[in-house]
Amino acid sequence: MRVNNPQTIDLVVDNDLCHGCGVCEDICPKYSIEFTEKNYLNIPQINYETCINHKGCDLCFRVCPGHSVDINYASVSDSTAETKKEDPFIGPHMACYTGWSSNYEIRYHSASGGVLSQFLIFLIEHGIIDGAVVTRFSDQNPLRTTSYIATNREEVLAAKSSKYCPVSLNGMAREIKKFNGKVAIVGLPCHIAGMRKISKIDKRLSKKVVGYFSIYCSSTRNYKAIDFLLRKRGLKRDEVKSFAFRDDGCLGSMKIITDKTVFKEKYTQYNRRLRSFFKPRRCTFCADHYGMLADISFGDIHLLPYFNEIGVNSIIIRDPNYDEYFKQASSSGYLEIAEIESSEINKSQTMMVKNREIIVPFNLCFEKLLGRKVPEYNIPFSKSVKMRGLYYWLSFSAQRVVGKWI
Ligand SMILES: Cc1cc2nc3c(=O)[nH]c(=O)nc-3n(C[C@H](O)[C@H](O)[C@H](O)COP(=O)(O)OP(=O)(O)OC[C@H]3O[C@@H](n4cnc5c(N)ncnc54)[C@H](O)[C@@H]3O)c2cc1C
Repeated sequence: MRVNNPQTIDLVVDNDLCHGCGVCEDICPKYSIEFTEKNYLNIPQINYETCINHKGCDLCFRVCPGHSVDINYASVSDSTAETKKEDPFIGPHMACYTGWSSNYEIRYHSASGGVLSQFLIFLIEHGIIDGAVVTRFSDQNPLRTTSYIATNREEVLAAKSSKYCPVSLNGMAREIKKFNGKVAIVGLPCHIAGMRKISKIDKRLSKKVVGYFSIYCSSTRNYKAIDFLLRKRGLKRDEVKSFAFRDDGCLGSMKIITDKTVFKEKYTQYNRRLRSFFKPRRCTFCADHYGMLADISFGDIHLLPYFNEIGVNSIIIRDPNYDEYFKQASSSGYLEIAEIESSEINKSQTMMVKNREIIVPFNLCFEKLLGRKVPEYNIPFSKSVKMRGLYYWLSFSAQRVVGKWI
C-alpha cells in the first residue's frame, strides 16, 4: 500500500525530477527500493509492504539530488581556502589543465583524451586507490549499462568512453562498503551529487570513498535514443554485439558492431540530429555542468589550439591532494598535461554558458510559475530572467514531445 507521506523518493519520481542516479536504493534500511526501466529511464520503485516511511523514515528523499543540490559541501570549500582560484562557472578550484593519456591506444579509443581512464590506472597502480566505480555496456545486453568496481587496468579500460544513456549507480554504495580498500567514484554531476549526499549520512561509506570524479555533462538521453539510432540505420537490437557512442579519435564516431558489419558515423553528425528529443526532464533544470562537488572533473575542450583529432581533455582539479597526484601521473609518464586558464574551458563549453545564463534560470522560474515542482540549487544565477529563455523552453519542450512519438 502506498502511504501518502510526501517525504519519499516517489515525490521526486511523480514530479518527473528523478535523475535515475540510483543512490536511494542503497540507503534504504529495509531494501524496499528497486530500480526498474520505465519509459526508457531507470526509475526507483518502492515496495510499500516493507517501506517504513510511515514510521518517519525519509532517507531515500534525503539522499536524492533530484529535488535539491547543495553546492556548499564540496570538499574543496574547506580544504583549499588559501590556494584556491575562483571562477563564476567552475567555482573554487586548484588548477585547470588540458592534456591526454600518453598511451596512444587509450587516448584514441576513449571519449576525449583518455585522461580519466589513464589517471584511474595510475592511482590503482600506485596504491592510492584500490578500485574505482566505473560504467560499461553490459555483456548480457550491449545496449544497457552496468556499473562495477574496477580494480585493474583491464577493468578500467572496459568502461572507457561516454554513455549518453541512463546510468544508475544503484548497488554501488553497498558494494563499496563490502570492498576491501579505498575507492574513487566516477559519474555524471548528478551521480556525484547523490554520492556526496549518501556519504554524508553513511559514515561507513564515506570512510571508503577517497575520490569523487565527475565528467562534465550538458544532459544525458533516455534509452529511446539508442532505439532511434538503430532504427534509422536499419539495425535490430538483438543484432548488436557491441555499441559505443564515441570511439576512434576525439569526439570520434558512434561504432556499432553486428555479426555482419561494423557501422560507424561521426559523433558530430548523429549527435546534432538527436537534438533534445530524448532529454530527460530533470536535465532541463541542471545547473551543474562541471560536477562542482567532484574532486576532479573531466571533459572535452572544443577549442583551438587545444582541440585535435586524436584525443584531448580539459580537466578541473578542486582538491589539493589530487592536484599533486595529477602532477605525479604526468611526471611518471602516464599523462601529458599543460595548465590552462579556467576561462579557456568556459569558452569551449558553449552549452554550459547558455544553460547557466539563460536556459536553467528561465526554466526554474517559468515552470514554478506554472505550478510545477522544480529542483533547488544554492548557486547564484543571472539576476534577470531573459526572454530568450522562452524560446529555448518552447523549442526543447516541443522536441521532447516529438521524442515521445518518434
Ligand atoms: C551524458 C554525457 C554528457 C557529456 N557532456 C559533455 C559536455 O557537454 N562537454 C564536455 O566537455 N564533456 C561532456 N561529457 C564528457 C566527455 O564525453 C568525456 O566523458 C570526458 O571528457 C572524459 O573523457 P576521457 O577520455 O577522459 O574519459 P574515458 O577515459 O573515456 O573514461 C570515461 C569514464 O566515464 C565513465 N562514464 C561514461 N559515461 C558515463 C555515464 N553516463 N555515467 C557515469 N559514468 C560514465 C566511464 O565509466 C569511464 O570510466 C559528457 C559525457 C556524458 C556521458
